[in-house]
Amino acid sequence: MKKIIIATKNNGKVKEFNALLTPLGYEVQSLLDYENAIDVEETGSTFEANAILKAEAISNQYQLLTIADDSGLEVDYLEGKPGVYSARYAGPDKSDQANMDKVLDELNSVTDMEERSARFVCALALSTPGQEVQTVKGTCEGYIANSPIGVNGFGYDPIFILKHTNKTMAQLSKEEKNQISHRSEALRKLLQLMANTER
Ligand code: IMP
Repeated sequence: MKKIIIATKNNGKVKEFNALLTPLGYEVQSLLDYENAIDVEETGSTFEANAILKAEAISNQYQLLTIADDSGLEVDYLEGKPGVYSARYAGPDKSDQANMDKVLDELNSVTDMEERSARFVCALALSTPGQEVQTVKGTCEGYIANSPIGVNGFGYDPIFILKHTNKTMAQLSKEEKNQISHRSEALRKLLQLMANTER
């Protein structure tokens, strides 16, 4: 079996990758299995750059095939912010609620829904020792709501209205979100890439 490391300590993400990669013949590991894994600082200015930083650092450390991800929310009116700062937009120790409140405050004067356009983005990087790193990107388009609605999901889900619907991401079930999310689109592309490339 080919070993592959998912460069995350998030058990939810590990499970998601495990379910998809084990049937393809991979033994899936994560940073939860490697206590001495280096802590890679996300210093890139794009999601791709951060995913590459993490995937290359971990694949170099362990000389194993590695997948890393980076994701977040881009709001057009805010010129792409919160972007790579999505997790810590309101400050390093702030909550999802504080991050949402900051975005809602910044869009306070914007009443035209078209001007409140936004997207979730997920970049995945695949790094094999000695080979050039490969990346894929998934997106999910929508608008920023006027106030939070819905209780499912996490992060900015309650203020993200999906395009062509009047539902926020937090009003979808887990299964519904998995069908249309930026992360699932990126994962589908990655699986196709892996199926087409001998690793
Ligand atoms: P990470 O890539 O898992 O570190 O996610 C970065 C941040 O982007 C999260 O803390 C959330 O604030 C935001 N984010 C990423 N994906 C989603 C999503 O599917 N829903 C809501 N927020 C998200």
